[in-house]
Amino acid sequence: MTTQILDINKIKQLLDDADIYEDENENKFQTIYLGSILDLTPSGKFYTIFARSNLNPCTKCNGEGVIRNKHGKRKKYENTRKKRTRLLRTHKKTQHNKNKEKKLWKQENQWKQMKTCPECDGIGSLEARLDRDWWKQLEIELNEINAWAHGSDGDGCDILISREAIEVDDDGTK
Ligand SMILES: [Zn+2]
Repeated sequence: MTTQILDINKIKQLLDDADIYEDENENKFQTIYLGSILDLTPSGKFYTIFARSNLNPCTKCNGEGVIRNKHGKRKKYENTRKKRTRLLRTHKKTQHNKNKEKKLWKQENQWKQMKTCPECDGIGSLEARLDRDWWKQLEIELNEINAWAHGSDGDGCDILISREAIEVDDDGTK
């Protein structure tokens, strides 16, 4: 479970109060500054997919993203895998074969030696997994008010929030 990140009413208020500006295509937007990645994300770290050596590796899987499957059964896995591969090679795409293939695939997963690390969800870093969940949650919350988060042209750590402009009159009507 992810907890609520934003005070969404406050964000809405700030967006209502923000100046309206136009992009080069005459689309009108309102934007506010939410904060820095370094302050807001769970890891408090800045990294990219290509440069992430500052992240601590997951202690459960040593950063491998997979752990030993306690229910792993090598022989059963290999047999199931062989069966499934054979099935996939036949060109009879009958419903019966499809169902059989699905069933074998499930068993295969159940018996394989390694499974996705539940701590980091296969990412190899718990910090990165928590950050990913945070960004997802942020997106969900902003969706409610038709807004979205994005970076700025300047500081790579900036998190800005934008929406298509809603003009609010002084008496509060739209
Ligand atoms: Zn892990």
